[in-house]
Amino acid sequence: EDRLLTPDRRADDVDAALRPKSLGEFVGQKAARENLRVFIDAARARGDALDHVLFFGPPGLGKTTLAQIIAREMGVGFRATSGPVIAKSGDLAALLTNLEDGDVLFIDEIHRLAPQVEEVLYPAMEDRALDLIIGEGPSARSVRIDLPRFTLVGATTRQGLLTTPLRDRFGIPVRLNFYTVDELEKVVTRAAGLLDLGIAPDGAREIARRARGTPRIAGRLLRRVRDFANVLGEAVVHAGVADQALNRLEVDALGLDAMDRRYLTMIADIYRGGPVGVETLAAGLSEPRDTIEEVIEPYLIQIGMIARTARGRCLNAAGWKHLGLDPPQGAQD
Ligand code: ADP
Repeated sequence: EDRLLTPDRRADDVDAALRPKSLGEFVGQKAARENLRVFIDAARARGDALDHVLFFGPPGLGKTTLAQIIAREMGVGFRATSGPVIAKSGDLAALLTNLEDGDVLFIDEIHRLAPQVEEVLYPAMEDRALDLIIGEGPSARSVRIDLPRFTLVGATTRQGLLTTPLRDRFGIPVRLNFYTVDELEKVVTRAAGLLDLGIAPDGAREIARRARGTPRIAGRLLRRVRDFANVLGEAVVHAGVADQALNRLEVDALGLDAMDRRYLTMIADIYRGGPVGVETLAAGLSEPRDTIEEVIEPYLIQIGMIARTARGRCLNAAGWKHLGLDPPQGAQD
């Protein structure tokens, strides 16, 4: 898949270089930042590990970045893995027993842990203990091993994807929201500085407006615009160059790309505005249902293009308008 606006990590993202290193440097997400500040300061004052943190929200909004910032601000080590990578409970047990006192263990896509692996986490999170079964059959017995103090930081796209027992064991649930254009403008300006690229305020704003509320996409668009500016011999990125570059990349004025427009067009043309079920859309677009629900739809809902209803997806008046079509009578607005 080669979708420019996909907020998933891609090989050409030099994410690491652009990552803010402290809460102070982190742009936006004011509520999350302020809460974390309090919890981090309190844990440090007590000399304790921070309670387990769950970040949830669409990809590319800063979950991994915040997990790293927590470790840095707590002055502890950082270990990262992801749900699908941990195949067996023994793999997780090995990870946990190798932690150092106070470490942050980051598990991305934590909703994708296998059930038997997830069960190892419960006593680990609650009692800092590992229950190992030794032997087999009637002579099998359970041995409890103490673990170092640690903070589990989990990341997922939606809180509701987690099982209740896992969700309940996170003391600090944190929702991340799409960024405002003002916030993304700051993200773009900061990233341009790190990339040693000259950018005018109107250039940063144009990229921010078309970044789908997502810092990762803002960083990616900035790099593409830089390529255009280089080729055109422009020393400073103005709105004109940004606009030209983004049009060439088929990122429209609202930041929607070809995939978003295919999605909207399918609901409009084939299902007359809906309601249409997500499985039907996934089949029609040849995209996994997860991608539709976790990547494409959240932003279209945020900007009011579509609605998720019990009977399926519906195109709102704004969606019809964006496609340049007249809504049929009785369409939602
Ligand atoms: P997630 O884990 O939610 O998918 P990441 O933490 O990997 O997202 O962030 C994706 C990219 O966006 C990184 O390059 C990161 O530097 C950048 N980024 C995310 N949030 C911010 C922010 N608040 N300020 C500046 N850059 C950010």
